[in-house]
Amino acid sequence: MTQRQRVVVIGGGYAGTMAANRLAQVGDFDVVVVNERDRFVERIRLHQWAAGSGEAAHDFATILAPGVRLVVDTATAIDAPQRQVHLASGEVLRYDYLVYALGSGAPDATIPGAVEYGHRLEDWESASGLREVLGVGPQSVAVVGGGLTGIETSAELAEQGHRVTLVTGGELGPSLSEKGRESTRETLRRIGVEVREQAGVAEIGPTSVHLDDGSEIAATVTVVTAGFAYPDLARRSGLAVDDAGRLRTDGALVSIDDARIVGTGDSATVAGVAIRNSCQAAIPLGAHAAATVRALAAGNPPKAVHLTFVGQCVSLGRHAATVQLSKFDDTPINRILTGGLGAKIKETICRSTVWGVRHPRLYRASTGAAPAGVVADAPARVAV
Ligand SMILES: Cc1cc2nc3c(=O)[nH]c(=O)nc-3n(C[C@H](O)[C@H](O)[C@H](O)COP(=O)(O)OP(=O)(O)OC[C@H]3O[C@@H](n4cnc5c(N)ncnc54)[C@H](O)[C@@H]3O)c2cc1C
Repeated sequence: MTQRQRVVVIGGGYAGTMAANRLAQVGDFDVVVVNERDRFVERIRLHQWAAGSGEAAHDFATILAPGVRLVVDTATAIDAPQRQVHLASGEVLRYDYLVYALGSGAPDATIPGAVEYGHRLEDWESASGLREVLGVGPQSVAVVGGGLTGIETSAELAEQGHRVTLVTGGELGPSLSEKGRESTRETLRRIGVEVREQAGVAEIGPTSVHLDDGSEIAATVTVVTAGFAYPDLARRSGLAVDDAGRLRTDGALVSIDDARIVGTGDSATVAGVAIRNSCQAAIPLGAHAAATVRALAAGNPPKAVHLTFVGQCVSLGRHAATVQLSKFDDTPINRILTGGLGAKIKETICRSTVWGVRHPRLYRASTGAAPAGVVADAPARVAV
């Protein structure tokens, strides 16, 4: 490579900051991160922020490597042929390589009343709104959704003194093993969360949640945690996306349309595989996106990502957690760690995510080949 190349990273979450910091440390790139807000948000702590039991934001100056320029703005269009990103402010950024790391959000709520009366916590703004409402004093809270976010939110709010009912149309924690599910149910019960499974929600009202079976849950606050949706920037910009709107990339994270665009984190699908939305995947995917940009810029074929999972960590308030162990392909096995030990492991992992993006080189060294795992021969291949 003879001259410095410019990389624009859209999205300053786990994947985007990891990619930017790794590229900045190589020294051959001018790196710009475009992010909607001026702070790095630890999404995995947003339930703590909403409950008033923890912080979830950091000054980007403490996160981004020296030399990375932050532009606080919203990307509104990608002009791939011209290699330009258009921003809401009217500014246009030219790039040699683009990293697409927009993350995920919430779907348009399909439950009647969800938009009018439901709260969410998928981003800083929605979690801050919920925090304000909960800050006035103990409330009766209905949490809709029995996935990991619903579980973590219910436990956190109950531990802070709110009366919480978790409602889910299916079973609690579908991604957990039977043992993990049973233990999680038991801990939620001990913390004071009432769990209603197989209970479809028909409508959300101002002070209650109406179930399909005609019954009603009194709730001054309803939090909707069900489902994920993806920013539609790639689709609107004419790039190939999957049905959910994730940028389609090959096994090395390169857009199937454009060899100057690399997708990573929640907002990309890899060789047709939708990797589980998680910072557990986003951080190594961010690291791999940087490696792919370096290879492309040097004229070398990028290597396919080979991602391995080891488990899921579900916080259950500040004093307990379910650590669900899994096979490398993310299938849960019937082994769990719980209670105070689980809580310590979960907290250590949460801290390690921010530490990881701040120290991208050491992160790689500390994790070895496993989650950051790389190297596979062509053709591109991904294991999740
Ligand atoms: C409450 C909660 C708890 C969670 N707990 C866990 C957990 O315990 N473990 C786990 O692994 N995962 C957890 N997750 C999921 C995890 O947070 C996400 O999978 C992870 O944040 C994805 O990282 P990312 O870098 O792809 O995207 P994000 O972290 O979402 O970052 C994307 C960034 O891009 C910005 N952006 C989007 N569009 C634009 C645009 N057009 N212009 C400029 N900027 C833009 C966004 O504002 C955001 O800052 C949790 C999520 C939530 C909401």
